[in-house]
Amino acid sequence: MADAFGRVVRSARVSVTDRCNLRCRYCMPAEGLRWLPRDEVLTREEIARLVRVMARWGVSDVRVTGGEPLMRPDLAGIVADIAALPGVREVSMTTNGVLLADRLDDLVQAGLRRVNVSVDSLDPDRFEAITRRRDLDRVLEGLAACARHADLGPIKVNAVLQRGLGELDVLPLAEMARTGPFVVRFIESMPLDADGAWTAEQVIPGDELRRMVDARWPLAPAARERPSAPATSWRFADGRGEVQFVSSVTEPFCAQCDRVRLTADGQLRTCLFATGEADLRTPMRAGADDDGLAAVLADAVAHKPAGHRIGQPGWSYDGRSMSRIGG
Ligand code: SAM
Ligand code: SF4
Repeated sequence: MADAFGRVVRSARVSVTDRCNLRCRYCMPAEGLRWLPRDEVLTREEIARLVRVMARWGVSDVRVTGGEPLMRPDLAGIVADIAALPGVREVSMTTNGVLLADRLDDLVQAGLRRVNVSVDSLDPDRFEAITRRRDLDRVLEGLAACARHADLGPIKVNAVLQRGLGELDVLPLAEMARTGPFVVRFIESMPLDADGAWTAEQVIPGDELRRMVDARWPLAPAARERPSAPATSWRFADGRGEVQFVSSVTEPFCAQCDRVRLTADGQLRTCLFATGEADLRTPMRAGADDDGLAAVLADAVAHKPAGHRIGQPGWSYDGRSMSRIGG
């Protein structure tokens, strides 16, 4: 399944809910969002059906996300269904980790193979300032649970650091990658906050963060995990671990993008910043067969945009925010 620019779609981010138990400033307003009515959210069976169609047309890597995926009580079932589909090579999850510790064993048993846990600060007060919840301990319990599962490695820690707040967190987070089984990924903040308060000045460029880490613990470049991987990888020169930088704003990687996104209400998005979506839920609920759904998918992929132009003159975006898309 290639788009008009020859990019082959291999990975899908599947949002299983738009709800969340945190309120990260760069994502959600303090009061939360108006959640989707339950009947608009895909059921477990509908998610499996749409991922099956994607897998038949070449998607092999599926990342479950949200909102917060662990808000769904049937998450292990969803993971098991996806992991059992022909063509699916790997099921992973991005989570805020708050509800992870008690649920991880079931998820791994269901077929979950990789986890990214989002942690922006290891300081309880700064964690609360960012997420508006005092849940750092629970997230760290979730990470400790991950570390006990050898088959989950590498466990990734996602950190979005914003200027004026995040500088103090760079080295403590980088140190996690030196002392535990974690690859720490620094992600530039994107204009996908529901408040619309993003400014380019808030972004700490990945290159600046890398130089801060390098000044303390020298880094050496490492190979990208895959040509389409969004992150650049760096190893500590003394051999103790790895950090990554996802510089979506300052160094866009759209030319290598192999992703599509399925929202919790069954809309296919070929780009985080797309203003249009392809509705898969309506035809599915109206009885379309797999070929009919695949045709919708193929048409959307054919129109995947070349890339975003965040921060460039005249650029604007008034689409869904991150938790409503599925990050
Ligand atoms: N709730 C889960 C979590 O936080 O990991 C999964 C969904 S969240 C939308 C997925 C990832 O998107 C997280 O790592 C989060 O930090 C990141 N994210 C959210 N808003 C963002 C923004 N405006 N810019 C960059 N990354 C963002
Ligand atoms: Fe929730 Fe994840 Fe958004 Fe934070 S980034 S508010 S945890 S969906």
